[in-house]
Amino acid sequence: MPAPSIEPAVLERGVQDYLDLHRQPELSMAEWHTAQFIEERLDQLGVEHFRCAGTGVIGLQRRGPGPVVAFRADIDGLPIQEETGLSYASTATARAADGATVPVMHGCGHDSHVASALTAARCLARPEREWAGTVVWIFQPGEESGAGARALLEDGLWQRAPRPELVLGQHIGSFAAGQIRLAHGPVCAQADSWLVRIQGRQAHAARPHTGLDPIVQACATIMRLQAVVAREVDALQSAAVTVGTFQAGLKENIIPERAEFSLNIRTFDPLVRQRLLAAVRRVIRAEATASGAPDPELIELANWPALHNDPAATTRLERAFAAGWGDRLSLDPPSMGSEDFGLLAQAIDAPSVFWRYGGLSESQAAAQAAGQDVPSNHSPSFAPDPARSLATGAQAALTSLLSRLAR
Ligand SMILES: [Zn+2]
Ligand SMILES: [Zn+2]
Repeated sequence: MPAPSIEPAVLERGVQDYLDLHRQPELSMAEWHTAQFIEERLDQLGVEHFRCAGTGVIGLQRRGPGPVVAFRADIDGLPIQEETGLSYASTATARAADGATVPVMHGCGHDSHVASALTAARCLARPEREWAGTVVWIFQPGEESGAGARALLEDGLWQRAPRPELVLGQHIGSFAAGQIRLAHGPVCAQADSWLVRIQGRQAHAARPHTGLDPIVQACATIMRLQAVVAREVDALQSAAVTVGTFQAGLKENIIPERAEFSLNIRTFDPLVRQRLLAAVRRVIRAEATASGAPDPELIELANWPALHNDPAATTRLERAFAAGWGDRLSLDPPSMGSEDFGLLAQAIDAPSVFWRYGGLSESQAAAQAAGQDVPSNHSPSFAPDPARSLATGAQAALTSLLSRLAR
């Protein structure tokens, strides 16, 4: 089956959706405007829908009896100040969980996921398109916080939507638009995010011996954590430990009462994960002991399961993609990135397949091929080519669905 062609007017509409979504990103689990935007478009297509977990939108696109296939698009943005300088760049701000006002950007490209899914739904809604069955569109909130898929399941997603024989999902990547990358087996790493609270004792900077300096302790801990992967994980295994935030103090001449940092731990192998988590705990406690301080408080912020593609479903989908994409389809190595997509299928023991599609313009892709760094997902300068990435994402979504539903 060749890659399904999409009418230029439908693609143009999809690009408009992408630009609109890009201008108005929202933070995880607070995607109220985005949810409404999706509902309005599903209404225009006559696709029934319901809300799930507050800002999740589940669309049920039916065309008679036939297979049921689910397709997930995540919808949230990130607290990033956009620096692309594009005419449609986001200037949005929002209240973060701690009350602070933060800039918001679709820095991971989830706007492209939504617009691609809506474009595929628009194609399937055309009467001349021949297919049968049901598409369960899962517009998932809160992927970046790791909370969204779980929230949908807890709010009864699979009690309220028909159970699919297959769950599909895709992510835009920092490689040439027009390309698709599909992994067999492991796709994304398991990830754990923790917050560490270090209790010190406040004192004047002139009399450090009367206090307990949580900054010195935090720094020693953070430096020591850098050695965990290097010295305690088999060099043939993959793992990463990153400290991503660090907060302490209000003034240079006060030893503060507390320091806080958060870290993110990534692995593929469950045994390596156990070892890493134990080592991180051990280092945090041991550095407290070395400082003569109480055990720091460890708070689990989020975790993402490892993601594996179903072998049989992946092989079948690979054939469908290969027919349409030829040498623009390639095998994807596993990524240290994380995804909560896998939970949606795991919950009902259904097979799932997840792939990436390219987002870069021709000039960005050429620069990348020449060895230059091109801004990638989560960069303030991440700037996919709107039309070309949308066409790739929409065609990939449509191909994957029609590979099961075409008549
Ligand atoms: Zn992301
Ligand atoms: Zn993402």
